[in-house]
Amino acid sequence: MRQMGLKTARLYNIFISHLHGDHCFGLLGLMTTFDMMGRTQPMHIYAHADLEKLLRPMMNYHMPEMKFEVIFHTINPRKKEVIFSDRTVTVETIPLKHKVPCCGFLFYEHHRQKDAVTGEISYETRKRYAYCSDTMYKESIVPQLEGVDVLFHESTFTDEWESRCKLTMHSTARQAATIAQQAHVGQLIIGHYSSREDDHTVFLHQAQEVFPNTILAVERQTYEI
Ligand SMILES: [Zn+2]
Repeated sequence: MRQMGLKTARLYNIFISHLHGDHCFGLLGLMTTFDMMGRTQPMHIYAHADLEKLLRPMMNYHMPEMKFEVIFHTINPRKKEVIFSDRTVTVETIPLKHKVPCCGFLFYEHHRQKDAVTGEISYETRKRYAYCSDTMYKESIVPQLEGVDVLFHESTFTDEWESRCKLTMHSTARQAATIAQQAHVGQLIIGHYSSREDDHTVFLHQAQEVFPNTILAVERQTYEI
């Protein structure tokens, strides 16, 4: 975030899909850095209940005089529900299938409208972005993803590693593309690549055979939705 010049003070909400280390170990470091930078605004974390149990003792040990509040919001990854909504965005969970309880997130961007006559305020949904990681191929999520503008779907493995993929409950690039095609999404971004495959164009080619409008997620790159 610092390398990209993002304003960390404006980060108020963090959504954690599941509690595998590569998806949550960074939180403690992030909070320590924010504390050292003098943050005072509260931080909201949406995650499985176990995250607070794991993280709170470490926070108390490493940051006993922490100057900002961390508020944990428990989510049930098995249930599709709205977990956050404000003036500009609504966030809904997408139940996924992985080794541990896991859900994706569907972000709806709103546009606030005010009726000139009645003064009534309504919200028109503009863009929808879905984040699905980590998960094995799960067709039942397709109706929820129908027509989203951008879908990020994990593609940890290529076709060559299909048995390993099943075992670890991940998806291949082709499976991610199949979900994108069935849900008629605008664009698919794939990522979360296994370190077993150095050449990421293999993921891209296998996905594009099913869903041509696929691009690779690249660290520190910005994508227009
Ligand atoms: Zn995982």
